[in-house]
Amino acid sequence: MTGEMAAGRLGQALWNPQAHMPTARAKRLVITRGEGAWLTASTGQRLLDATASLWHANIGHGRERIALAAYDQMRKLETYHTFGRFANEPALRLADRLAALGPIPDARVMLTSGGSDSVDLACKLARRHWQLEGRGDKRVILSRHGAYHGLHAFGTSIAGLQYNREGYGSESLVPETARIATNDIGSVRAQLAQIGTDHIAAVIAEPVIGTGGVIGPAPGYLEGLAALAQDNDILLIADEVITGFGRAGRMFASQRYRIAPDLVTMAKGITSGYAPLGGVLVSPRIADRFFVDPADAAAPIFRHGLTYSGHATACAVAEANLDVMEEEGLVERAACLETVLEKAVDPLRGHELVAEVRAGSAFMAGIRLRDDVDGDAVAEACTNAGVLIRTIHNNTLQICPPFVTSEDEIALIARTIADALDGYPA
Ligand code: PLP
Repeated sequence: MTGEMAAGRLGQALWNPQAHMPTARAKRLVITRGEGAWLTASTGQRLLDATASLWHANIGHGRERIALAAYDQMRKLETYHTFGRFANEPALRLADRLAALGPIPDARVMLTSGGSDSVDLACKLARRHWQLEGRGDKRVILSRHGAYHGLHAFGTSIAGLQYNREGYGSESLVPETARIATNDIGSVRAQLAQIGTDHIAAVIAEPVIGTGGVIGPAPGYLEGLAALAQDNDILLIADEVITGFGRAGRMFASQRYRIAPDLVTMAKGITSGYAPLGGVLVSPRIADRFFVDPADAAAPIFRHGLTYSGHATACAVAEANLDVMEEEGLVERAACLETVLEKAVDPLRGHELVAEVRAGSAFMAGIRLRDDVDGDAVAEACTNAGVLIRTIHNNTLQICPPFVTSEDEIALIARTIADALDGYPA
């Protein structure tokens, strides 16, 4: 620990995201190293990373091979932009690879800097699509109650977690959004009829809701949503920012849950957090008109882009991350570990402080505590005991370990939670 850190002077200026700043400053936990599923804090404490940081450390921390991939790329070319006719080789290679791995046949790929960027892009592109189709009334973006789609203006506007939408002076920061039922397809059908399908551009859904509490799809819900979208000319956006890249035991959860989205948003596991990167897979239905013969000057332009769309070093990191996943069979491993985790947390159902255990829809779990239990205190007790846990929506403990976590470590996560609950209140 540096002297400044010990004296609590370091980082006085940092305003943490999503933070009650007095608490964040009083209880700051500084992570200084990572190796596999384990972290080291500035105090020297070793911590098992039961949340894969913010759901993203799929291949685990501290991989030298990824650092070398970044180093090699930076030595050659840190990046060059991809606006207009410019490109760099890692962006070209990665786009082809993502298109081949994804759930959309013959997809095109737009690259971004992260998940919120990807959501913003997908929602804009959905609206642009209907403008170009001559159906300009189709502008409403639907999202599910309980959903989290990042916190850019579109993500804020379509948030299904009310506290993320509120406080900006209008019902929806970006106009023309609406919420639909999370797991009840009958209600969704009624809501579509009420809004009027001629006004709806797209519906966005996380195949497994993450931040909203780790909520898997009810049987038939996603298929029902996809069918409603198809029958009513509504684009389906699968937000796979958490579930993409193996978390649901397939490269994408859309493949596991057998839905055929028009757009797929990605980030997090695309690099396992080694570099900020995101992307959107786009179906030919939307993309084809932008890719017509080069002689056709009438081809439209999608006026969207970021300085770091297709950042070369981030893309090289993503390629190395995918290499590791493939060589070590980590997607298959996540599928196996999902069952291990489900069994490990099952006994928590019987604990008097637990309201609900959610597991079995991906390699992650949510332990919802009774409303009168201080979930943050339980998470802190787990962290003090060496297993880093945090609370997410609805007093739920998030479990989402890296794919390199061992079966014993998964048992340790469940045991540590049980001990913290037994010792509650501390
Ligand atoms: N979509 C989903 C489903 C997410 O879980 C997140 C982040 O947690 C986002 C979008 C936003 O991603 P980012 O934080 O990289 O902007």
